[in-house]
Amino acid sequence: MTTTRFAPSPTGLLHVGNIRTALHNWLLAKRAGGRFVLRIDDTDAARSREDYVEAIRADLAWLGLHPEGEERQSARFALYEAEFERLKAAGRVYPCWETPQELDLKRKVLLGRGLAPIYDRAALALGEDAKAARIAAGDLPHWRFLLDREEAIGWDDGVRGPQSFDPAAMSDPVIRRADGSWLYMLPSVIDDIAMGVTDVLRGEDHVSNTATQVQMFTALGGTVPRFAHEALLVGTEGKLSKRLGSLGVAQLREMGIEPEALIALLARLGTSDPVDPSLRLAGAAASFDLTHFGRAPARFDEAELERVNAAIVHTLSFDTVRARLPEGMSAAAWEAIRPNLAHVHEAHDWWQVVTGPIAQPGLAPEDRPFLAEAAVVLADLAWDEGVWKALTGALKVQTGRKGKALFLPLRLALTGMEHGPDMGALLPLIGREAALERLRAA
Ligand code: GLU
Repeated sequence: MTTTRFAPSPTGLLHVGNIRTALHNWLLAKRAGGRFVLRIDDTDAARSREDYVEAIRADLAWLGLHPEGEERQSARFALYEAEFERLKAAGRVYPCWETPQELDLKRKVLLGRGLAPIYDRAALALGEDAKAARIAAGDLPHWRFLLDREEAIGWDDGVRGPQSFDPAAMSDPVIRRADGSWLYMLPSVIDDIAMGVTDVLRGEDHVSNTATQVQMFTALGGTVPRFAHEALLVGTEGKLSKRLGSLGVAQLREMGIEPEALIALLARLGTSDPVDPSLRLAGAAASFDLTHFGRAPARFDEAELERVNAAIVHTLSFDTVRARLPEGMSAAAWEAIRPNLAHVHEAHDWWQVVTGPIAQPGLAPEDRPFLAEAAVVLADLAWDEGVWKALTGALKVQTGRKGKALFLPLRLALTGMEHGPDMGALLPLIGREAALERLRAA
């Protein structure tokens, strides 16, 4: 069964880029009728925080990306230890004692000689006795994974196509620190095997990690999953801006962005498929195709998100938004107001226009007698759904006004605004008494 995972480190809030990764993994799993697992990468106890774990769960839930399971790396140290021992016994991990300064110097020497700064495996050459003596003396090593330099590394990347790396041109990666703590690489592979992850979809900043992890899968006797690396998300200005790196669900919610808008946009961002505001999770899953992803950075445009959001707000039913609307607002009012909203919360502003008091309209002096006449006409009209049509029809005949000269003063006097929802729908909501009062006050 297709199994994907989203593996955030709970050291901060999810930003748009992370959310996109989560969404795409969810879509990839659902497209195949598979499972999507949340893996909390909290091996770094000092930087991981429980409130971030909770925020990650809440963000996924808000988006409707419900995981089939949740695992936490901090609960799996025993497994990592056991697998580490197995790799040690097989000679695939080895202890090293170089300090960061020594490693830095080695790199500089190699670079100075025009050579690639690859770790020279000096520690691998140490004799067993020397190593045992150092450990016995309390001089604890960090650990590297021994790459097999005979085993060519390659995979058919779901986005990037065939990839190949020469292990002889790569440093053996450090997988464990001297204090026993884990770097991300090995636990991730151990978990992917244990959780039956079949597809790893992540950002292209992980491509070089994949090159070493491919050998870890094999060394542990696991099946190498299908890998796909997406181009990174950039802002409209073409870089990963500070704003993009910090823009998260809480802020987007605050701005009035609907989860559906984020999904419709992020599902298609970086693909050749057009953004479609009517796209929902199920449809996005059915049409999700890694081969439609390009290699160029995916541009995240907030203005586009706003456009998609407005289009979605215009279709939201009263029942879905009811709890977020002002007290007393009816379905008819929502439907009248909805086409004018970019965000649901703006319904409050329009409801204020309906219920009053309204802002003093800036009226031209010659419109005042016209509005007084409108009040007289309105007072005699039947108050029903057609009242706006009847009012403007009668005034047109009576005053000879038409177009803007007819409609704008009425709108201004009745709403205090130059633009807004269809007056035909709005006037019945304002109500007879209030409408008469507003016209007379003008
Ligand atoms: N915790 C890692 C990260 O956030 C996971 C990467 C992966 O998907 O393997 O970068």
